[in-house]
Amino acid sequence: MKLSEMALNVKESSTLSITAMAKQLSEQGADLAAFTAGEPDFDTPEHIKKAAIDATNSGFTKYTPSSGTVDLRKAICAKLKKDNSLSYEPNQIVVSNGAKHSLSNIFLSILNKNDEVIIPAPFWLSYPEMVHIAGGKSIIVHTSSENGFKLTVTELEKAYTKNTKALILNSPNNPTGAVYSKEELEQIAEFAIKNDIIVIADEIYENLVYSGIQHISIASLSEEIFKRTIIVNGFSKGYAMTGWRLGYTASSKEIADAMGNIQSHMTSNPNSMAQKGAVVALTGDQASVENMRVEFEKRRNYIYDRAKNIPLISCNKPDGAFYLFIDVSGLLNDSLKSAKDIADVLLKEYSVVVVPCADFGFPNHIRLSYAISMEDITKGMDRIEKFVSEKY
Ligand code: PMP
Ligand code: GLU
Repeated sequence: MKLSEMALNVKESSTLSITAMAKQLSEQGADLAAFTAGEPDFDTPEHIKKAAIDATNSGFTKYTPSSGTVDLRKAICAKLKKDNSLSYEPNQIVVSNGAKHSLSNIFLSILNKNDEVIIPAPFWLSYPEMVHIAGGKSIIVHTSSENGFKLTVTELEKAYTKNTKALILNSPNNPTGAVYSKEELEQIAEFAIKNDIIVIADEIYENLVYSGIQHISIASLSEEIFKRTIIVNGFSKGYAMTGWRLGYTASSKEIADAMGNIQSHMTSNPNSMAQKGAVVALTGDQASVENMRVEFEKRRNYIYDRAKNIPLISCNKPDGAFYLFIDVSGLLNDSLKSAKDIADVLLKEYSVVVVPCADFGFPNHIRLSYAISMEDITKGMDRIEKFVSEKY
């Protein structure tokens, strides 16, 4: 059997495969500290679960409009207005099966062959794969730790060509935890307007910001950038709803219609009962979101303090999301030649699971997700410290 060229060039998602491997080993009794997927360890808040259960019991179990129920799209518009000062109509919102699906819809809707998408590295590993699936070309721009891994206009200017169609801006960022300031966003917005490119603003970690830092949506800066921005957001991270598979976009009606058409043939609507839960997530009490954020901030402070006291490794203090992005070049030698080798030894000899970041565009880094219990974080950091002291 001959596979398509496209399929032959798609890699498996290593975040998902490493996470699955860690879950399996734990089920078999391994005592792991697994800093793996970006998946909150918290349960979905009760009132959200209840809304989906009630929807199921009352027979809300049929197809809904393909781009999502009007109720949910209205609730999303109200959220965008309240939290982000953005005015959208329900027909500009498309609800999909997770933000991953939203992003796939975007690339399928806007890219022609040879169209380029600028992706700042380090990047969440699925972006280049999704661009490739849609037939576009990824232009990877390496950001630097000195700039907090945030994209600068100088870097953008070097990457820009006449084929540049869009730019991905992920703030708060996976894997660095970087959060763009208003001034930084203004410069990027100015560049996007001048060159007439689309900004794909992945804001899925917007609820998870620390030390009083504010998340700002680039679309809110001016009418001009609003028109060029496609917002991506979802319920997985802030509401601990990874398995519900619900994400959404907010965009011009033209792009929303295109995405809606594609979705209507590829998947139809996202799960009906889950959508009922999502309405309650957005319109109900937000205390649980804040409680989870506070807990993540405590973990962030602890894990960063531990990591910065371990010799030979270095990292920036993350301002958002729930990842620590660690430079392990100081640990590389003739036997441990890459972050992948370090990850292998950590797993085999110290029962610690980390994500090596070659697939994120930074082969000398590892990512630690701190969306796990404080107990596991403490255990894992003790073991990483032991690894460094025993091997170096
Ligand atoms: N964007 C980023 C930056 C992510 O880390 C993730 C993690 N899964 C997603 C989008 C997609 O999330 P989901 O499909 O679970 O909504
Ligand atoms: N986005 C999360 C991560 O980076 C979940 C896994 C995935 O979808 O990649 O770990």
